[in-house]
Formats: sequence, C-alpha cells, structure tokens
Amino acid sequence: MCALATPQSPQASSSDGPLVLLVEDDESLQAVLQATLRAHGYRVSLAQSGKAALLEARTRNPDLIVLDLGLPDMDGLELLVTIREWSRAPVVVISARGDERDKVCALDGGADDYVTKPFGMQEFLARLRLSLRRVSDRRGVKQAGPFRTGDLVVDLHARRVSLRGKAVRLTPIEYKILATLVVHAGTVVAGRDLLAEVWGPQYVEQHRYLRVYMVHLRRKVEPTPSAPRYILTEAGVGYRLGIE
Ligand code: CA
Repeated sequence: MCALATPQSPQASSSDGPLVLLVEDDESLQAVLQATLRAHGYRVSLAQSGKAALLEARTRNPDLIVLDLGLPDMDGLELLVTIREWSRAPVVVISARGDERDKVCALDGGADDYVTKPFGMQEFLARLRLSLRRVSDRRGVKQAGPFRTGDLVVDLHARRVSLRGKAVRLTPIEYKILATLVVHAGTVVAGRDLLAEVWGPQYVEQHRYLRVYMVHLRRKVEPTPSAPRYILTEAGVGYRLGIE
C-alpha cells in the first residue's frame, strides 16, 4: 500500500513523535525540511556542521539522523562512520552528489538509505518512514500488534499507550523507556542497557536518571504506583515488564 500517512495518529502532537536530527548546512533547505518534518509529527533537532551534529547526536540520542554529506567542517562520510561507532539510529543520507561511488560508500559506512538532491518531500518522508519501520521490524515489533499486559496496552507503531482503555500521555523519555521494556517484555533489561538505549551510550552510569523517570512512568501506567504490577524492579540488575 502506498500510504502518505504521518508516522503517528493525526491527533498526536509533534511533542511526542520520533526525534530527527537534521544535519544540513544549507539554511533554506534546512528550514524547508524542518517545517515538513514538524508538520508530519516529528520532533527535530538541528545541526549545521559535523561538530554540532556529533554533539547533538550524543546528547539527544535521536531516533533517526538525516545527514547531508557536504558539510563545512567535516566530510559527511567521515561523520557517518564516527556516529556508527556508537549509535544504531537509522541514518538517511541526503546529498547533491549523484554518483554511485558515494552512494556505495555511504551505505557501506552504515547509512540506511540515500536520497539525491533535489528530491520531493513525499519521497523524503517515505524514506524516513521506511528506515524507522526497519528499526522496529529488527526489534521484533512487526508481527506483534499492540502489546498488552493486564490493563496496559502499548502500540509501538502508533506510539500510543493506554491504561484501562484510557490514553496515557507520556513524555518522549518516558515513552522510550516503556517501549524498550515492551520490546524485551518478560525479560530483565539491565539498567545500563536501558540508559544506553534511552539517553545514549555515554549515560550508562546515570542510574539516578532511571530511578527518577521510573517514578514518573509508574505514576502514569501503574494502577498502584507504590506496588508496581507491570514495571518490575529486579534489584541490582534492572527492570522487567511483567506479562499477565
Ligand atoms: Ca551541504
């Protein structure tokens, strides 16, 4: 099916869509892409140089990276290889270079897709959706449909959470924690792994972040937050989403 759908339901605001790091030094193209992405429910962080892109990627842990190859301070291919050393976020390369060798280098360097300038916005959005879908497929979300445990329902494709049939509003971080636990439902996820997945690999020692956010998350998804039924603590190890 050729859907021109947004990555989430129309009523969801752009405050909880996937976070895209847009690395592009051409200001007019950056503005157009940013507006398009926001209009389609994505959150956007911006970088106009390789250095800024590395900083943003490390601190904000984006869900997807759109990378222009021609940057003022660094070759985009070099940046791609550096990012791939620690990030598994899908990378869609955009470049004016049409030649096949660059495409092959980008894909070999770890890019998930490649769009040659000039491109249409619908094609661009379709490539992004495809790359994001591949990630959720890789994580085994594809065949599952909405995940249910007791009265808690988590739809990873629509990014929707409900408790006893009522929509639960989560912040992007809370959602990412819950989504990670859902992917590994029934098994223990180590605190370090959760921190790496949600905040990024340089945060693996920040166990306090997890404790703080678990309190917020449990208040929203647990019928009795003080006696968790879904998000269970495995003392000294991590957390497990209980299956009922
Ligand atoms: Ca450029």
